[in-house]
Amino acid sequence: MNQLDLNEFKHLISEGVHSTVFNGVEEGIMITDCDSRIIRVNTAFEFVTGYSEKEVLHQRPSILNSGIHNRTFYEKMWKTVFDKGQWSGEIWNRRKTGDIYPEWLTITAIKNEQGVITNYCGIFEDLSEQKMTEKELERRKLTDILTGVSNRYSFLERMEVLLQSSMNHKYHHALLFFDLDRFKQVNETLGHEVGDRLLIEVTERLQGILKNKDILARYGGDEFIVTATNVHNVQEVARIAEKITTLLSEPFCIEGQQVYISTSIGVSLYPEDGQTANTLIKKADQAMYYAKQNGRNQFAFYFDDLQVDSKRVLLLDNELRHAIRQKDFELYFQPKVDVKKNEISGVEALVRWNDDKLGFVSPAEFIPYAEETGLIIPISEIVIEKACEAHQLLKQRGEENINIAINISSIHFHQQNFIESIKHTFELYNCSPNFFELELTERTVMTNERDTIQKLIELKMMGFKLSIDDFGTGYSSLSYLVQFPLNYLKIDRSFIQSITSIADNEAVVDAIIQMAHRLHMKVIAEGVEQKEQVKLLQQMGCDMIQGYYYSKPLPILALVDFIEFWKLEIKGE
Ligand code: C2E
Ligand code: CA
Ligand code: CA
Repeated sequence: MNQLDLNEFKHLISEGVHSTVFNGVEEGIMITDCDSRIIRVNTAFEFVTGYSEKEVLHQRPSILNSGIHNRTFYEKMWKTVFDKGQWSGEIWNRRKTGDIYPEWLTITAIKNEQGVITNYCGIFEDLSEQKMTEKELERRKLTDILTGVSNRYSFLERMEVLLQSSMNHKYHHALLFFDLDRFKQVNETLGHEVGDRLLIEVTERLQGILKNKDILARYGGDEFIVTATNVHNVQEVARIAEKITTLLSEPFCIEGQQVYISTSIGVSLYPEDGQTANTLIKKADQAMYYAKQNGRNQFAFYFDDLQVDSKRVLLLDNELRHAIRQKDFELYFQPKVDVKKNEISGVEALVRWNDDKLGFVSPAEFIPYAEETGLIIPISEIVIEKACEAHQLLKQRGEENINIAINISSIHFHQQNFIESIKHTFELYNCSPNFFELELTERTVMTNERDTIQKLIELKMMGFKLSIDDFGTGYSSLSYLVQFPLNYLKIDRSFIQSITSIADNEAVVDAIIQMAHRLHMKVIAEGVEQKEQVKLLQQMGCDMIQGYYYSKPLPILALVDFIEFWKLEIKGE
């Protein structure tokens, strides 16, 4: 007899009859009194748990607790037993040997004719063997269900075969490891369905460039591996890596939306960097981190010094979390000069982090890392607080009209509670958004249109001015940006750098300024370093200029001095 009928069982206990049935079933059985003290267990119980009946008599069932579930779990379980008379579910318990194991447990409250609980009965089935088989089955499933390419297990198997057959020949292979930069963001802002679709389309593009024996695998999440087989030299591998980055930086059209991603690739070589799949993956992974640190949409080959670099990433992570807890960041402010009025109209707040162990870390290094890990949200909140503090200091010095521009990361902007949280901080510091500007990148406003426009309008209504940062590096056109309520356009440094030397760039900047003005936006040129650039920009009608030509970013007190100096010396007030 395998299955035990509970009613029959109830009857057996109430009759006080312990028949062979009790000991004949495969399920473990434990009966307690109404006070949850064990009064009886069966042979299967002894077998599964390792405890004899003698050892557990008068004990509570918690003797089997594995420590895996928290208190709420047990509270919920018992509440169900009281309310509904029964609870069933998977639970992890501990055998006498200390091993933990999963079981399917049903607890029933046994009541007498008056409806009063007299006993509890637990019946369970050991699931550990079944679990093993599931794992085994999972292993055997060779393809990734979503994309149809190899999964992690089959990739490792195929690599083993490949590497074994390569040993006696002088074949060289390259392992390219990469994940999709900002995939998390796509998933969060556009939804998992779009995320899934994107993974499928990425796979399809990649398949188009593979040779016969090459292996493509989705290693997990948004991580992919391509093994390029029988490569002849490093240049050939570099070309493949380049092809992949180009291929993935072209927009994807998913459900009528344009989605932009990029990728950073780490490359390891067989046999130079390792003889086993695991070593090659580990080294390619380290190289990928290195590629990311050097700016996205790049690739990097593994080299031995990388060991040190991956340690740096770990340290960076640790230190950054520590800095967040201590709010250990500082803001520097770079003046923006209104060239028509010849006055300082505002400043851009730029975060600075001076770490005890790492020294000065550039925001160009830690901001992308913080975006990848989500740490950007607390950092961004600290920056907003500090910007409010700075405004108050300026106010005390009679400079409240200096607008402070805050950089807002796309990840933070797309958080559901972004508006609420910024509102809260401004109220807390008793600051009016009228004296602030938010700098958003093209990428930020390009995704998830309706929600974005809604948020921008709300921010505008609160009093913030809005600007588009790094204009010209993204893909959107001015005509696309018209629909957003923007005040300023900041032309990216890369354009400004070469306006005096590349005629095309001069024409582009000229056109941007003209069009922006027609759309009632003001134009800020950033990264201006030379007098000739200032002149040319002024001729073109550019409204504001920011850059080392006027000033580097300054700590708040130095900024106050600079403003004084400007008024006295430049404007002659
Ligand atoms: P960004 O928003 O484009 O900021 C301008 C960057 O250009 C700053 O670098 C600034 O110091 C630098 N810069 C200004 N004038 C010149 C110039 O004349 N020549 C040159 N070569 N560079 C100039 P920084 O401070 O290293 O910041 C780098 C990036 O880090 C920023 O680019 C921004 O994307 C990000 N970032 C900085 N602070 C924050 C922040 O508080 N929050 C967020 N979300 N991102 C920030
Ligand atoms: Ca900026
Ligand atoms: Ca910028």
